[in-house]
Amino acid sequence: MLPRWHIFYGAIFTLVIWAIIPTINPFYLGLLFLASFLIDFDHYIEAVLHTKKLSLFKAFDYYKSLQQREQESYKKGLRKKGEFYIFHTVEFHLFIVLLSIFFPFLFYIFLGMVFHSLLDILDMVRKDRFYTREYFFFNWLRKISSS
Ligand SMILES: [Zn+2]
Repeated sequence: MLPRWHIFYGAIFTLVIWAIIPTINPFYLGLLFLASFLIDFDHYIEAVLHTKKLSLFKAFDYYKSLQQREQESYKKGLRKKGEFYIFHTVEFHLFIVLLSIFFPFLFYIFLGMVFHSLLDILDMVRKDRFYTREYFFFNWLRKISSS
């Protein structure tokens, strides 16, 4: 899903939470909103690692060509996993929620991340691309250490 849609839905989600809990600390609302799209920063990290360029535009180009390649594989019936996105893993979500026991503000970041990941999953299921992502950090680790 494109960042602009994550920002849009993230804003709606933040407003809904605000409507449910009007007394909520605005700082927490801000964190929730930012987390609902900044989790995609891992996509930028992946692009920088592949292109060796810091430019955000180059990162967008990278994903455009990656999407084309993925589309071609899909047409050929190939179901390959795409890039690895560390912030989108189940383990990273658990790590943040566990840390929130000690640092309560992290709970709002966790909520934004979960909302983001649910949108990603819905979008991928709708486009029949659920298989493209590695959802578990330890699966990824096992694979790279055995290859
Ligand atoms: Zn995402």
